[in-house]
Amino acid sequence: MVGSEVWVEDPDDAWVDGEVLEINGDEIKVKRTSNKTIVAKTSSAHPKDPEFSPTGVDDMTKLAYLHEPGVLQNLKCRYDVNEIYTYTGSILIAVNPFQRLPHLYNLQVMQKYKGVALGELSPHPFAIADSAYRQMINESISQAILVSGESGAGKTESTKMLMRYLAYMGGKVDNTEERSVEQKVLESNPVLEAFGNAKTVRNNNSSRFGKFVELQFDHRGRISGAAIRTYLLERSRVCQVSDPERNYHCFYMLCAAPKEDVDKYKLGNPKSFRYLNQSNCIALDAINDAEEYVATRRAMGVVGMNQEEQDAIFRVVAGILHLGNVEFAKGKEIDSSQPKDDKSRSHLKNAAELFMCDEKALEESLCKRVFVTRDETITKALDPDAAALSRDALAKIVYSKLFDWLVEKINVAIGQDSDSKFLIGVLDIYGFESFKTNSFEQFCINLTNEKLQQHFNQHVFKMEQEEYEREKIDWSYIEFVDNQDILDLIEKKPGGIIALLDEACMFPRSTHETFAQKLYQTFKDNKRFSKPKLSRTDFTICHYAGDVTYQTDLFLDKNKDYVVPEHQALLAASKCSFVSSLFPPLPEESSKSSKFSSIGSAFKQQLQSLLETLNSTEPHYVRCVKPNNVLKPAIFENNNVLQQLRCGGVMEAIRISCAGFPSRKQFHEFIDRFAILAPEVRSKSDKIAACKKILEKSNLGGYQIGKTKVFLRAGQMAELDGQRAEIL
Ligand code: ADP
Ligand code: MG
Repeated sequence: MVGSEVWVEDPDDAWVDGEVLEINGDEIKVKRTSNKTIVAKTSSAHPKDPEFSPTGVDDMTKLAYLHEPGVLQNLKCRYDVNEIYTYTGSILIAVNPFQRLPHLYNLQVMQKYKGVALGELSPHPFAIADSAYRQMINESISQAILVSGESGAGKTESTKMLMRYLAYMGGKVDNTEERSVEQKVLESNPVLEAFGNAKTVRNNNSSRFGKFVELQFDHRGRISGAAIRTYLLERSRVCQVSDPERNYHCFYMLCAAPKEDVDKYKLGNPKSFRYLNQSNCIALDAINDAEEYVATRRAMGVVGMNQEEQDAIFRVVAGILHLGNVEFAKGKEIDSSQPKDDKSRSHLKNAAELFMCDEKALEESLCKRVFVTRDETITKALDPDAAALSRDALAKIVYSKLFDWLVEKINVAIGQDSDSKFLIGVLDIYGFESFKTNSFEQFCINLTNEKLQQHFNQHVFKMEQEEYEREKIDWSYIEFVDNQDILDLIEKKPGGIIALLDEACMFPRSTHETFAQKLYQTFKDNKRFSKPKLSRTDFTICHYAGDVTYQTDLFLDKNKDYVVPEHQALLAASKCSFVSSLFPPLPEESSKSSKFSSIGSAFKQQLQSLLETLNSTEPHYVRCVKPNNVLKPAIFENNNVLQQLRCGGVMEAIRISCAGFPSRKQFHEFIDRFAILAPEVRSKSDKIAACKKILEKSNLGGYQIGKTKVFLRAGQMAELDGQRAEIL
């Protein structure tokens, strides 16, 4: 209608608003507040809510007009006044403020949220944690809180708030000397962050691993144990850092340690180490590496690592730095190699001392390879390039074993409660990724997100259906896009992409070209799979969140979880019991070099077991959103946010919940709240009749009355509340 306010699509800002000036067939002319006019398709325009409050609503389902521009406008105007949290039904959306908001998280705030029903107070991670805790106590069901979002969106920060609240609710009150389980869980954060987080372009403190923390509770609802599971640490970062990113924090901390430690580990300026100086970024503005070193050491103590262990850990970290400085030149024989110069020799010596292994043996393990055939053992020299690869492989395997050891140690120190009645799990795991180039890591990450998306779908949508069926209310089933076909494409056994990759890894003559060919052949008719026109080895998967094209070049290498036997033998023989314990002897048959174990398949298994755990819990969702890519406060980029809401399934959840009956109340709750609209019902004993009467008098339509609850259409709860407020 001419004169009405509308939203129309805009390439830069996603949606812009204005007043309709004229309508010409399927096009409309719209005047913006800036007085500029634009022409848009009528079909893509949405009405603008004339009553929209400038402060927005705290739950999307309360919006009178629920469409994309409405959702965005709501998030944005809340963000502008630092209201960073908003519900969509029971899902919490958290928009990263990129500034400290300490008043939101102090003890008083925790006290305020204690025992208060979800939705009564402003949206908050504490409210989600409280609701999970109360459901666990009241219904004796384990709970899970799934935190998702892209890198830098605020997952890890949100997870810490959730854990702090759960520790507050379930903490023990006694003041014994021994640190409590929850203190150890909280102190495990700085340790894992020191060794598993790094500065990336997306986040200055990016977790390079996924994490599931399981808090175990006793029958009184007190935390009695905990377990931390981690997923897929990014190994390549140890030897390869692109500017302006950093390697793992622990390397820089150690270089900034007190002088006696620096001397002991033969360290110095971080710029002198190749694993660090490939990037120009060494120091971070907000971080004092020297202080972090002390803090990390303290936290390591809290989670049960004694001085000797701490010393061994940092010795290994220093050893890796020295190893990285060993360069190779051509050796005396053809195609052989040796340390390039005296400098390389001295780093090799330092590395050997720090790993407490034999220097000569270390050199050999880097420069030579032993092949065992049926009849004989052949020693082959490696050329300088191959030796450098061998060196990096050693650095990566040592670091990843070190990280696994830390996680294991923390778990032992915290202690498991095998008698625990129920648990609350908190999942902090990488969101969907789609970059210019995508490799095996993105493939695994996106598989994770497909699985979690399916879980989310099943929960939000199937639960919805079941509830309607239980309540015997009449409704037409709402369709939702199931992503089982993508999961089949990736993980079906046999025949899925992972299975084909494992097969390729087992044939010595396979290359990424033959692997790609095999994929093209096998999936040529698969709707979710395609071959990009201009490439001979890439493939594209049509994920639920969009198309991603993967480069197969390193898929085979990266899928092989394989310790070079020479490296294994070298470190297993270390005089340092810590180092040798990282490399326990392998069972006889698997020490043959042909044996390979698949990272993809192992990861698939890990995911399977995670989903089994999640399926036995009542899930809660926190969707983190990164409002801009410059990591600064007060900048809200519409297109960027919208894309994330789509990837996180938030738009889909909104669509489904609005199509159905997003608000529901038990009869007695409904009567308590709205009897004021029809006072005569107070005397009625027939609850259904009472609810009907109230609804009739309020002039609403389209609602449903189930067996135990009233089901309202989107916006109707707000309408009733409004009528109630008028009377009050
Ligand atoms: P993710 O784990 O999703 O990659 P983080 O949780 O590490 O992201 O958040 C990235 C950065 O954003 C943090 O280091 C912090 O500076 C900022 N940030 C995130 N959430 C909040 C919050 N609730 N309050 C203040 N700053 C936050
Ligand atoms: Mg993180």
